[in-house]
Amino acid sequence: MKKHNFSAGPCVLPQPVLRKASEAILNFNGLDLSLIEISHRSKDFVAVMERAQKLALEHLGLQNKGYKALFLQGGASMEFLRVAYNLLENKAAYLNTGTWSTKSIKEANMFGEVVEVASSKDQNFNYIPKNYTIPSDVDYFHCTSNNTIFGTQLKDFPKIDAPIVCDMSSDIFSRQLDFSKFSIIYAGAQKNMGPAGTTLIVVKEDVLGKVSRTIPSLMDYKVHIGKDSMFNTPAVFAVYVSMLTLEWLKEKGGISAIEKVNNKKADLVYSEIDRNPLFKGFVANKEDRSTMNATFNLTDKSLKEPFDTLWQEAGINGLNGHRSVGGYRASMYNALEFESVQILVDVMKELERIG
Ligand SMILES: *Cc1c(COP(=O)(O)O)cnc(C)c1O
Repeated sequence: MKKHNFSAGPCVLPQPVLRKASEAILNFNGLDLSLIEISHRSKDFVAVMERAQKLALEHLGLQNKGYKALFLQGGASMEFLRVAYNLLENKAAYLNTGTWSTKSIKEANMFGEVVEVASSKDQNFNYIPKNYTIPSDVDYFHCTSNNTIFGTQLKDFPKIDAPIVCDMSSDIFSRQLDFSKFSIIYAGAQKNMGPAGTTLIVVKEDVLGKVSRTIPSLMDYKVHIGKDSMFNTPAVFAVYVSMLTLEWLKEKGGISAIEKVNNKKADLVYSEIDRNPLFKGFVANKEDRSTMNATFNLTDKSLKEPFDTLWQEAGINGLNGHRSVGGYRASMYNALEFESVQILVDVMKELERIG
């Protein structure tokens, strides 16, 4: 039986997507060839790339609004650098809400002045800073919408004139936002969209071409836009599976429908964390809690062994917290079934009964 996969990333993908992907490995589109042995310039693969880009923009409500969708390689980590390469001329503002923000700041520092407008490092990133000021003369403001490791999520975004760049790796396509507020959105595929190997980057074209430096081709969003994500060989399999997941999401009713399920899953697990005296949530303020990654701990460390045994026996995978936080992390991405969260909550109740 398939495990209940709470892994933080790479993570659970929809079963029908995995089935179709495995068929395409053997025989893609009835070509009697594998998806991964045909040219990326063949009409069959070009159609996949175009469909994936179209679906991404459609889900985000950004078609015909001056945005381009790219599927590139290097992971979300590459965008920490590529964003600064393309946008940072003098000064940029960064909000530091965790490990990934910290890494993006480190890269940007190589290109210009970085103003860290606020940080939650003082409390091991267990909250989202509020009421910070963003200087008006910055080239852009960068934030991380969901902090995968710590389990916090931005619910509000600043209203500013400068372009907003957002790392949405772990909550893209999970909730409705006015995505037109953002000039660049990027997300490594392996959290809510597909396998590792490709990154979705949604760029509003009018923010490009404003820096004076020479940008190497692979680093230049304009080059990739000009070549429709085919400047070099794309990660064909990762793009294909991402396309299938975006199709699956469309059949499910899109972001608005999946958001309702995601909220139910999060409510279920957080209610149990708050109710059950054996558990304690890691995130201080309820409004900062992530609907994607719920971080929590045991109040009595001696229950670790019985709890670990219980969830493993229930067929749960990937519940251990990140080493910088410890405890547990239930990652509940789009493809995780409500039933899996119910099983986890049953296990938490069972621990209370026997513990
Ligand atoms: C996982 C993750 C990253 C890093 O992604 P890579 O594709 O491994 O580079 C960056 N940001 C966030 C928010 C993440 O969750």
